[in-house]
Amino acid sequence: AEEIMHRTEKLSVVGQLAAGIAHEIRNPLTAIKGFTQLLKKEDHNDYLEVMLNELERIEDIVSDLLILAKPQPSKLEEVDIGILLEDTVDLFRSEAILHNVEIKLDIDLGDSLIKGESNKLKQVFINLLKNAIEAMPNGGGITVSAIRTSNGEIMTKVKDEGMGIPEERIPNLGEPFYSTKEKGTGLGLMICNRIIKNHGGTISIESKINEGTTISVILPAFSPSKTPANIK
Ligand code: ADP
Ligand code: MG
Repeated sequence: AEEIMHRTEKLSVVGQLAAGIAHEIRNPLTAIKGFTQLLKKEDHNDYLEVMLNELERIEDIVSDLLILAKPQPSKLEEVDIGILLEDTVDLFRSEAILHNVEIKLDIDLGDSLIKGESNKLKQVFINLLKNAIEAMPNGGGITVSAIRTSNGEIMTKVKDEGMGIPEERIPNLGEPFYSTKEKGTGLGLMICNRIIKNHGGTISIESKINEGTTISVILPAFSPSKTPANIK
């Protein structure tokens, strides 16, 4: 009985997601159709501008959905979280300068290996860094840190000095299509949640209005000396 319950729950989540997708994609499509009809009669470059914006929106939604649709971790590798964080931060160097944002790294991990899929984990930190930059339209600082907890887990944090999130809105985060941004898809945190859950980890959020937000990601550590064969 429990399994059936899980299945119906899953179906309703998929159904909700499908309804959300249909709604989100229909809006830009309706706009593009309308402006295309107008273009047939007149020629205005501002119509093309709107159409391009709406096409970009569809592109963003579809590429986020593709990440969600990919199957669970299959190719597990040993991932060095410290290096992965450095590489991910490097991807944002030019965008940070452009937005007047300074990104600091504070990594204190001995051997920082975990078992996982590095591309997916990178996607998580890409999404978190993107959100952090977008939360500081006038610039500011981001700190990306990683430590090993007393339980041997790896705890990473992405901390920004941005606008923060009202407490009552925190439960909405990670819901599909929940976004407060004009150009947001509202799928980024849902993707993060999914990936971290698949890696046996957890995500938590702390935030203060006008002070900033810290997103913590806890991942189970993988220690080669403690492979199951060595555990008594
Ligand atoms: P998107 O970025 O496309 O809006 P996300 O799922 O990444 O979608 O984020 C959902 C919402 O959560 C954002 O629209 C924003 O309101 C809020 N949010 C996420 N990260 C932050 C942050 N670092 N600071 C402030 N708000 C945030
Ligand atoms: Mg986002």
